[in-house]
Order: sequence, then C-alpha cells, then structure tokens
Amino acid sequence: MTSSPAAFAPTDSARADDDRFDLIVIGAGGGGMAAALFGAIRGCRVLLLEATEYVGGTTAFSGGTTWIPNTHLAATVGADDSVERARAYLTAVIGPYLNAPLLEAFLRNGPKAIERLERSSDVKFRAFAMHPDYESDVEGAVVRGRALEPLPFDGRLLGAAFSLIRPPIPEFTVLGGMMIDRQDIGHLMNMKRSWASFRYSTALLVRHVRDRISNPRGTRLVMGNALVARLLYSLRARDVAVWTNARVSTIRRATTGFDVTVTRDGRPRTLRASRGVILATGGFNRNEKLRRERLGDIAPYSPTAPGTTGGGIELAAELGGRMGDDGFEPVLWAPVSVRKRADGTMAVFPHFIMDRGKPGTMVVDQQGRRFMNETLDDVFAPRTQGAFAESSGKTLDTGKANAVNLMGVPVQDHYTSIGKDPLDVLLFAGFELMISKHGEGGDFNRGDFFGENNRFLR
Ligand SMILES: Cc1cc2nc3c(=O)[nH]c(=O)nc-3n(C[C@H](O)[C@H](O)[C@H](O)COP(=O)(O)OP(=O)(O)OC[C@H]3O[C@@H](n4cnc5c(N)ncnc54)[C@H](O)[C@@H]3O)c2cc1C
Repeated sequence: MTSSPAAFAPTDSARADDDRFDLIVIGAGGGGMAAALFGAIRGCRVLLLEATEYVGGTTAFSGGTTWIPNTHLAATVGADDSVERARAYLTAVIGPYLNAPLLEAFLRNGPKAIERLERSSDVKFRAFAMHPDYESDVEGAVVRGRALEPLPFDGRLLGAAFSLIRPPIPEFTVLGGMMIDRQDIGHLMNMKRSWASFRYSTALLVRHVRDRISNPRGTRLVMGNALVARLLYSLRARDVAVWTNARVSTIRRATTGFDVTVTRDGRPRTLRASRGVILATGGFNRNEKLRRERLGDIAPYSPTAPGTTGGGIELAAELGGRMGDDGFEPVLWAPVSVRKRADGTMAVFPHFIMDRGKPGTMVVDQQGRRFMNETLDDVFAPRTQGAFAESSGKTLDTGKANAVNLMGVPVQDHYTSIGKDPLDVLLFAGFELMISKHGEGGDFNRGDFFGENNRFLR
C-alpha cells in the first residue's frame, strides 16, 4: 500500500481555462492513463480526456493482470524465463500473425516500462509463485513470473477523487461492494482452518464494515480497480489534468501539432496538443454499426464498460486511419453468464479460461452437450465452437452458450438462476473423474491441458 496519504480535488478546476498542452490523451482506461503517466514522467504537460463520468474504462472491471516477461518481479518468484523463451512462446501462440519488430520492441521495452513505473510512480505490481501462461502446452510457456497483478490500493488516499474511479461490476464484489482478489479468497476460504487466515479475513471484514459507514462501497481496491486507482493517484501527483465527461468530437492537424475539439459539460472548445495526441479509447463493443460490420449478426452481450463505443476508431478514420485486416480476429471471445439485476440493469459475467477451466466445471450448450475444451484460451473458443457445429450438424448460438462457475468461489444465487431451462447453463461437478475415465486427454483433450492450470486453480 502507498504510505503517503494525500487529498486531491475531484476535478481540475485550476486547469479549466488551459487550452495548450504538449500531449493530449483521449480515453482514460489503463492504456490512456499509462500513456499519460509516461508522458508526464518524461516532462510533458499532459491532458487526459475521458468521455464518461468515471476514469478506468473496461480496465476498472478487469483483473488488471499485466503480462510482461522478464521483469524484475519475475526474479522475486524464481521464474525460469529468458527473452529467448518468451520469444519462443509468443511465436508459437501468435503463429502467422506475428509482427516481428513489434514482438522485439515488446520483449525489450516491457520490463523497462514496469521498472520505470515502479520507480517513478505509485503503480506497483506483484508476481505470484503460481500463475501459468494461458497456453501452458506450447513451447516456451512458464508457470510463474510473467503475469503481474497490481498491488491492492487504499482508495482513501485519493480523497474526493475516489469517486472518479469506475466501480467494479457487483458480481465481482461481496458484502455490498467489498473487492477481493485471489489471495483474499484463499484466506477467506481457509479462515476456519488457519489462525493466520482467520486474522487476515477478520481484518478484511472489519475494514469493510468501517468503510461502509462512510462510503458507498469498499475502499480497499484490488485487481483492475487497484491499477486504475494507482494510475490516477500517480497522475495527480504529477499534476496531470484529468477531465471526465469530456467527449472529443474532432481532431485536426495544425501547423504545430493537433487541434482537438472536446465538449465538456455541454460546452465545446478547441485545445492544442503541440507534440501529439494519443487515442486510447478502448474497443468497439458498444458500437452497433462496427459490431455488425466486423462480426456479423452476433448476440448483443459485452462485459466491457459503457464507454467502449469505438469513438477513437471513428476519430482516427477521419484522419485517414484504417482498421488493420491482417490479424486473426478483432475480438477476445468468452462465454458469458447473463442475468437481469434487481435494479433492472443487465449483468454480463465473462468466463475466461481461469474460471471455466477449474476442476469440477465444464461448459455445455443449450442441449447440455460439451462443445469445447474449457481450458483452452479465449481466442480459440469460437473456433472450437465452430468445430462443434460442424461435427453435430447444428449451429451453436454462441450468445446463449452460458457457463457458470461452481468451483473456487462460493456459488451465488444469480449464477445458479441463469436460464429457465437447466440445460441452458448446466455445469458438471466431479469432472476430474470423467477425465480419468476417458484416459489422458478425455473429450476435447481437456486432460492434456489439465496439469499446470489445475495446480494454479486448486
Ligand atoms: C471482466 C474482465 C476481466 C479482464 N481481465 C483482464 C486481465 O486480467 N488482464 C488483461 O490484460 N486484460 C483483461 N481484460 C481485458 C482488458 O480489460 C482490456 O483489454 C483493457 O482494459 C483495455 O484497456 P484500454 O485502456 O484500451 O480501454 P478501456 O479500459 O476500455 O478504456 C477506454 C476509455 O476510453 C473512453 N472513451 C471512449 N471513447 C472516447 C472518446 N471519444 N473520448 C474520450 N474518451 C473516450 C472510454 O469511456 C473508456 O473509459 C479483462 C476484461 C474484462 C471484461
């Protein structure tokens, strides 16, 4: 935790009349906030613009896990890694879509970026002794050291600016707004068996009760919320102006730099960025037109934050930019559980590999049939579904392919109540027995990938 408390004002009224900056960053998710922070670390006068009322974007909903091989943190968990090994892994995983110069830049600069962030800001990470790569079966995979989690953060340090952090989805919290990470879950589940876990859990719970007396949610932030809060804390410490409710409508080239027109609180104004503009507006999940154009007729669900409207893509297109067509897919797919919350909003809960691959859990379609190897990563899920559709002669509606998490975290009502037809969301406990009955790989070769991920998930 950061030890130097400081109170910040929630908005940047002192900057309200400024209209000239070195760098303007558009979009305050993890990407934009980190870009703004690096700009400030290098001495630029930076403005960060965010269209919604919160900073954080989808990053605030996320695990915040940052995958970078060979950082100084890898050494703290004794990672058996090297640049060659990481290169071999990425080459195998990315296959024909590999961009060699980009890969080399990532391998060379990733560790430096983490080191610089830790040295020059309050953005801090930790590595875990067990956190295997998603594709644990390919050459160069390791079981620890590459996946870095943000350290928990005390939201109270932000003062009134705490209210600027996009809250996590309710499904990621317990007891009315208490965030927990995997270390916390381990202690909470073990609190009746271990004195250390009992003490840890009691401290968590007491802190949360205290928090709730004066806050609408817990102030101990973990995962993506911790990353975003750490970034905001660091930005403000470096006097970076952050404007929320500020939507950019146009960017035009100027004689020196760019003119950016932004509407804030209903008032349009034009700002000058003399050294550059960075577009970091996230995905196009909530842009119906782009979804239809790029993905065809798919179910409307997305677990991303409300601001992912593809605004930056449209701004870039006006300047002559275009979306690349040379990648595998413009999407990270995952089966989702959907349900209506009590307040009428729609919960869309994604089941990524670490969730749906847990021992005792399997994913089935509306007919109650497994259609994929649950332990394969998200990129491969649609392809596996395609294979199922081919072999059964049926078309699988991926939007309705729901899954529930029955293991690892306590089952909550809303997971078990998804779908009227039990087959819609059936998951099967005791899956390990099935694997051993089927021999090494079992159906869909799940057993082939069982080893490392299961050691992590237990
Ligand atoms: C539940 C969940 C868990 C995940 N876990 C992980 C994980 O552990 N590790 C990982 O690597 N990835 C994870 N991901 C994916 C990851 O969260 C995203 O890829 C990442 O957050 C994208 O960051 P970003 O900064 O590009 O966009 P975002 O975080 O979405 O931020 C974009 C911001 O731009 C703003 N914006 C949009 N248009 C405009 C405009 N015209 N003007 C101004 N602002 C605009 C948006 O409002 C938003 O705040 C997860 C995703 C989900 C849904």
